[in-house]
Amino acid sequence: MKLLYEGPSLLDGAPIVALLTGDDKPSENKKTGPMLQTYIMRADIPPYVAVKTKQDVSICGDCPMRGDKCYVETWQDPNNIWKRYKRGNYETGNAKLFGLNRAIRVGSYGDPGAIPVQIWEALLCKASGHTGYTHQSNDELAGMVQRSVESAREAIEYQAQGWRTFRIKLPEEPLLENEVMCPFEKTGLQCIQCQMCDGKSHNVAVNVHGAQHKVNNYAQYKQNMELQQFESLRDLSIRVETALPRQAQAA
Ligand code: SF4
Repeated sequence: MKLLYEGPSLLDGAPIVALLTGDDKPSENKKTGPMLQTYIMRADIPPYVAVKTKQDVSICGDCPMRGDKCYVETWQDPNNIWKRYKRGNYETGNAKLFGLNRAIRVGSYGDPGAIPVQIWEALLCKASGHTGYTHQSNDELAGMVQRSVESAREAIEYQAQGWRTFRIKLPEEPLLENEVMCPFEKTGLQCIQCQMCDGKSHNVAVNVHGAQHKVNNYAQYKQNMELQQFESLRDLSIRVETALPRQAQAA
């Protein structure tokens, strides 16, 4: 395991750490295959405690999936990695060499926008490939990682700003014209071979996945989101109607 960053979060200044794993023992992640993985976590408290106390804002920012919708089970891999870090069981060194000829997943847990972009640039400059995702609107990351979004409307907005998007959707929601479906669910193609989520080549959509209660929470979140959008459109149309000049009927 390698230390990538230890210092203040760019999101709220709290102490955080970024670690690279999979170098000494290949990742067993069924979806990514044996890519190097990166974990961004609070340095001072276990990741599941950070989620419980909402201090995960330091590494997730305002991601709407935080807490009860995120598919990452923080008491599993993130917690084991954090405990290893606390025991001092990691190496330090040059990020360029850490990534040499390896495929890397940027943000296996935590948002890459929580640490300086220069760390990612160094790690990826000699890598054989990468995938990555962010919920932050930090333009420095555009072209390097996908902008994660939860609606077609957001996808269109961020694509217009130059991002490639990664949209989590319900199975019944259709694909946008310029989107491709993540092939893993249907074909089993792993990220290490696919690498469409490289921030520059494709807009990708994926059906929500993970533990059933998290999928249900996500469906509920989407319903609330659509209701809010409907209500704000209705308010807008009422405001426009009342602002229009009134004219007496001619007859
Ligand atoms: S589209 Fe490809 S790289 Fe992206 S999540 Fe799916 S399998 Fe991985």
